Amino acid sequence: MNLHEYQGKEILNSFGVRIQRGIVANTPEEAVEAAKKLTEETGTGWHVIKAQVHAGGRGKGGGVKLAKNLDEVKSISNDILGMMLVTPQTSAEGKLVNQILIAEDVYYPGDSEPNEFYMSVLLNRATGRNMIMYSTEGGMDIEAVAEETPHLIFTEEIDPATGLLPFQARKVAFNLGLSGAAFKEMVKFVTALYTAYDKSDSALFEINPVLKTSDDKIMAVDAKVTLDDNALFRHKDYAAMRDEREENPIEVEARAAGLNYVDLDGNVGCMVNGAGLAMGTMDLIKQAGGDPANFLDVGGTADAQRVETAFGIILKDPNVKAILVNIFGGIVRCDRVAQGVVDAYKNMGDKINVPIICRLQGTNAKEAKELIDNSGMEIISATEFQEAADKVQEVLEA
Ligand code: GDP
Ligand code: MN
Repeated sequence: MNLHEYQGKEILNSFGVRIQRGIVANTPEEAVEAAKKLTEETGTGWHVIKAQVHAGGRGKGGGVKLAKNLDEVKSISNDILGMMLVTPQTSAEGKLVNQILIAEDVYYPGDSEPNEFYMSVLLNRATGRNMIMYSTEGGMDIEAVAEETPHLIFTEEIDPATGLLPFQARKVAFNLGLSGAAFKEMVKFVTALYTAYDKSDSALFEINPVLKTSDDKIMAVDAKVTLDDNALFRHKDYAAMRDEREENPIEVEARAAGLNYVDLDGNVGCMVNGAGLAMGTMDLIKQAGGDPANFLDVGGTADAQRVETAFGIILKDPNVKAILVNIFGGIVRCDRVAQGVVDAYKNMGDKINVPIICRLQGTNAKEAKELIDNSGMEIISATEFQEAADKVQEVLEA
């Protein structure tokens, strides 16, 4: 689950990571109030107005602007709120800006060249360890840095048994070329950042830029946080931060129905029970020359109601040209699932306008196949896994 910058910063702040202070606003009037409050608290007269959308590169798209007085706060807020923000990370139509963050200006006018660093914490899947990735080349596109000057990106891996060790935090500060007070601040920053990542069960923390101010403070100016969905049950307060306006509407509907659905680019809709079988099914579709349109795990109880809901969700994707149902009947009997598929098909009538290939294996598989074959519905049954994938290809090529 992705968070907005302001939410990510709240989490960072709660773990003692220094952040550029800010207040979120929904209207230009709220923005002005926020700016006044920040001036009282921080003494800043200048503010940055930052669009809150789940996409990076906002600065490049005109979603981050400096306001030098309250009139500018109001007019810039008015411009950014409600705009369709297009950035290198959004679609061509962009993302609607519902909220803005009014933040203190931390790039002090006296700073000839602000020191911006890049820092992220994430899992290195190859080694199974968390790592801190950091660079002196902050504030810009880190993908471009990785492409053109890879030697300027450092990584520090963390042993899960010991956690981040003090010498590692010092090494980060050293490699970033810091000394004196800034060095000490960076050690504190890295240590608190890693703790925040670890304790919040996050999958990614990306701070770009991390700023060194002229008075040697180190702070997070931006925050991209991705939480691990599977750990949300133990962070109710973070789970409440979900902003469904930012998410894929089909995925939102599937979650509400208790289905595990991920939208993909292909044209073969998949309805499978169990995440492992779902992955295997997607692999086999690919191998047969097709392309999965989604990952969908309907879970253990594949009854008619669930199957119908799942069909409905798969069919919302206009790219779907065929549906493969691949269900293993272990606890749930195949003939019950087959009945569910047939009933759902009947109920949905002409809403189902693509061929369905149905493979049911396990308890009562034979009865299930007979039920499908004798249903009079246009459902193609299959027994073997490969056979099912091949039949999908056949209908696509027909
Ligand atoms: P992103 O473009 O979505 O990554 O958004 P960021 O939060 O990283 O902001 C983009 C850029 O805006 C930063 O790299 C800074 O150069 C600039 N910026 C952010 N905060 C301030 C600020 O307080 N003052 C000034 N002058 N510029 C800022
Ligand atoms: Mn950024």
